[in-house]
Amino acid sequence: MSPNSMKFVRLLSVLVAALFAAGSVTAQSLVVRNARIFDGTSDQLSTQQDVLIVDGVIDSIGRGLSNPGGVREIDASGLTLMPGLIDAHTHVMLQLPVQQALTSDDYYYAYTASVAAKAFLDNGFTTIRDMSGNTFSLKQAIDRGVLPGPRIFPAGAMISQTSGHSDHRTPEAPSRLLEPGSRSPLEERGMVVVADGVPEVLQAARENLRRGATQIKIAVGGGVSSYGDPLDVTQFTEDEIRAAVAAAADWGTYVAAHVYNSKGVRRAVDLGVRSIEHANLIDVETLEYMNERDVWLSPQVIVFQQEMGGMNADQLAKQRQARDGVSSLLTAANNLGYRNIVFGTDIVTSLSELRNGNRELVLRSEWFEPAEVLKQATSKAGELVGLSGPRNLYGKLGVIEPLAVADILLVDGDPLEDISILARPQESIRVIIKGGEIYKNEL
Ligand SMILES: [Zn+2]
Repeated sequence: MSPNSMKFVRLLSVLVAALFAAGSVTAQSLVVRNARIFDGTSDQLSTQQDVLIVDGVIDSIGRGLSNPGGVREIDASGLTLMPGLIDAHTHVMLQLPVQQALTSDDYYYAYTASVAAKAFLDNGFTTIRDMSGNTFSLKQAIDRGVLPGPRIFPAGAMISQTSGHSDHRTPEAPSRLLEPGSRSPLEERGMVVVADGVPEVLQAARENLRRGATQIKIAVGGGVSSYGDPLDVTQFTEDEIRAAVAAAADWGTYVAAHVYNSKGVRRAVDLGVRSIEHANLIDVETLEYMNERDVWLSPQVIVFQQEMGGMNADQLAKQRQARDGVSSLLTAANNLGYRNIVFGTDIVTSLSELRNGNRELVLRSEWFEPAEVLKQATSKAGELVGLSGPRNLYGKLGVIEPLAVADILLVDGDPLEDISILARPQESIRVIIKGGEIYKNEL
């Protein structure tokens, strides 16, 4: 070998070594300096701290952390560092106005959903628990970096009985006994599914799990947007509920149930359902019953104030009935010091409502202190999505602590003092980091 080529080989090996060294500090590594921290669990901000993120995970937190070498730095002096927000009840696939939902093809659903996904992330939501919809491909596209959006914990298609909350056929539609296989447009697209009897419930749950559902959603009482089921009715027999719980348990995960009334809540809780969605018409005794059993309460405020186009008189009456229950539910939850309560919006049929969805944070502060609302939208919701155990592909979410996933917001102002700043996320959220990757940086 000539001296020149010797030199070249040496240079090459130095370059390769440098590349490998750089490989240990990826693009998902970062030091954020001098931020006051809301860690997702505390009632107040910390003193100024640094946070070191390595490979998308929070490595360490402290003052004057040393840079492991070549890692990008952000100076967050004067800003609040907090966990990315988590919405525990969304429908990212269902943001088409009702008329469009009835007439659009699958592509239009997908385009709209991709805009909805970006809207969540723009609002500071780095994770959503999606509680009915054919979200599987969207989740995949986001996880692969094809589209911007939050991490999705999908339930897949919500399962209900014929005449239940997943049965979106119009009242005039013929019986399925006469026209086997007749389905609503939502059911045809896998947004919801109707199943009767234990074998069908098992199959419906397993089809969702096959696609990657992280939890199973069933309806055990009437719903607002379906036609034939008043809010007071109970849905699914004990055996059917037990079947859904068993199918989920075999996958190491849990069942969440849509229900407004106390009777349905009790039955679901007794049969092993771990998360109750809505519960607007619940009585205090049943809420206490849930709390004693550490069952998760997933209520919403904003969706009941939303004027959803295309609803008939029955549906509007149901919406008013549900809305009128919100205050007594949240008052009772606050009085009880309800432990496992999460933030959620449940917004459907409107991208513009979705973009303004952070108003839910403000609406909730009518019943809860800002710190409480923020815990519901961070550590508490993180704990709930963690119930999916081995189906959680990501790790610990909703907190700022070593080993947690580095989903981080840098906020101009102190949301514990004034939570309304988060209702203007375009201005107040200066930096959005998801899994250590900077999505937005306006510093
Ligand atoms: Zn919902």
